Order: sequence, then C-alpha cells, then structure tokens
Amino acid sequence: MADSAVPMRRRAGLRKTVATALAGVVAAALATVTLSATAAQAADCSGGYVGLTYDDGPNPSNTTNLLNTLKANGLRATFFNIGQNAQNNQSLVRAQVDAGMWVGNHSYTHPHLPQMSSSQIQSELQRTQQAIQQATGSAPKLFRPPYGETNSTLQSIEQQLGLKEIIWDVDSQDWNGASTTQIVQAAGRLQNGQVILMHDQYATTVQAIPQIAANLRSRNLCAGMISPTTGRAVAPDGGTPVSPSPTIPQSPSPTPTLTPTAGSGACTATMETVNSWGGGFQSNVTVRAGSSAIRGWTVTWSWPGSQSVSQLWGGLQSGSGSSVSVRNESWNGSLGASASTTFGFVANGTAATPTLTCSAS
Ligand SMILES: [Zn+2]
Repeated sequence: MADSAVPMRRRAGLRKTVATALAGVVAAALATVTLSATAAQAADCSGGYVGLTYDDGPNPSNTTNLLNTLKANGLRATFFNIGQNAQNNQSLVRAQVDAGMWVGNHSYTHPHLPQMSSSQIQSELQRTQQAIQQATGSAPKLFRPPYGETNSTLQSIEQQLGLKEIIWDVDSQDWNGASTTQIVQAAGRLQNGQVILMHDQYATTVQAIPQIAANLRSRNLCAGMISPTTGRAVAPDGGTPVSPSPTIPQSPSPTPTLTPTAGSGACTATMETVNSWGGGFQSNVTVRAGSSAIRGWTVTWSWPGSQSVSQLWGGLQSGSGSSVSVRNESWNGSLGASASTTFGFVANGTAATPTLTCSAS
C-alpha cells in the first residue's frame, strides 16, 4: 500500500512572505512589549509548522502504539485513512481524533485511481467520507491519492466532495525499507509549511518519532495541521482537529477571568479544554480586548499541578515550570475594542483550567 515518490514541491515565494511577516511581528513586539528574556524554548514555533502524515491506517496492530508515541512526544499529525480500514476499525478512527490528530481520506481500497472510471473514483472517495463521518461525526476535508497519482477527473471529484488534494514535499521512504535513521533524516529536511509522507504500519516509523520531535524542536518548528485551503502546514486552528465528535471529552464550560489592565486598554482571557487524553490535553485561550483597543497583551497563569506546555501556537511563551506567560505574536498592530484572538496549546498532565491574568499594553 506504499506511496511512491513524486517531485518535491517548492514554494520559496511563500517562505519569503512568511519570513517578511514574521519580521514585522517581531519588530512590533519589540516596540510594544516589555518581557523577561527567559523564553522557554520547548514550545517555540517561531520557525513555523510542518505537517506529519501517516497513511494507510488505521490498523489494529500499530495505530494505538503510533498514537501513544506521538502524544508522548507532544506531536500532532494527519492520518490519511483507507476507507475500508476505517470502516473495520471505527474505534481506532475515533482514537485518532481523541488523540488530537487530524483525519484525511486516502480512498476506500487504495487503488490506482487514474486507471478507474469517474463513477468508480466517486465511489472510492464517497464511501471513505461516509466511513470516517460515521466514526468521527464529520467528513474529512483533506484527500491524499494513493501512490500520489492524480489526474483531472480525480481532481474534479475531489472538488465536488469539498476535498483538498494533499501530496507531500518529503517522502520518508518508510514504505521502501528506510531505516529509522533515514526516516529521521528525511524529517530533518522539512521546511516551514511542508508535508512529509509516512505510514501507519512500520515499527521503524514509530521508532523515529522521538528523534523527529527533537529535530523539529531544535529548529523551532512545530507539528501543525494541513490547511484545507492552501494544502500547507500551518498552526492548528484552535479547534478540534476534525470537527468535534460526540466522543471527544469536553470541559464543562469555559472559565472567564477578567483582570485589571496595564496601559491604555483592558483584556480578558478565557481558557477552554477542547480535548484530553491519558497524560495530556489541548486547550484554547481566547483573548478579548475590552471597550478600548489594545496594542498588545500578555496572559499569565500558574498550573495547579504538574502540568507543562509541550506545544503552543498563536503566541510566544515565556516562563517555565508551573508559571506560564504568553504574549501576542499572531497579529501585528492592535486588537480592536471587543475584538478577540485565540492561541492554543497542548500540555502534559491532567487537564486543568487555572485562573488567567490578562494584561494589555
Ligand atoms: Zn497509501
């Protein structure tokens, strides 16, 4: 069921645009925010985001182990499931979502789609949408053609079903007998926005995960979601991966905290746990300006127990240990009166909703 290589896609222009935008944000932050210099490196996503993908699952012999290893290393990934595997292992599809992963469509039987008729292709994609929707409560928005093989007939059917075609930039070659070291080296070539092809069924692929996590950390890259709009790896959107399924544990309710402000404006911060699993959880924090626009914000809190943030997007984290401070990064300029922005994170430990302090500048 392996996928063969296709030419690497290069998007130097996009990277340049991102770099320019980041430079603007950094300049604005320097001008408006006073912050201690003890930034925690563990959650630094300043290098951008990459898309880790695992194809051909779910399968009972490997998927649970793969999910546990990803979670233990604070990584999120996109699973391109084969429809018949999803149909036969619905609890594993739910487990993927519960673990904070995204789920995509990889056809129902993994055929060479360009050799099939239009109606056969339609059936391959549609049945997979249904199987995954049945398991998770929502249909995928991403589609990866088996073997990376595509044509205009397939693409028009993808479009009808609201699916974005995702190939890859880097092929790990795990399907071709690559060693764990070679898989890690392949991941080491990932640049901001890019996507790597891996598979659900190889021990070498699972064993590569801790080193992939370390390599990404060393380059300030974080594992992100694949945008259904652009097909590029981006920061998680702050929501649950595939839209929420009934089985995802939800926090009882958000706990808003209004605090005094500094400077010219007011802000509030609200933390909500959107997903949790054994040993970790994912939360979103919504920052809202008060009756006046604000130029910047800093949200701080202290964990009640031994929680620790492993990955954060939409803000810059500083402070370590039980005290966390996050300041604005994702917008450049001001947050208008009553306007809001959201950052999110994945943390280790038991889900908790501490008291937040939001200060504006
Ligand atoms: Zn495949």
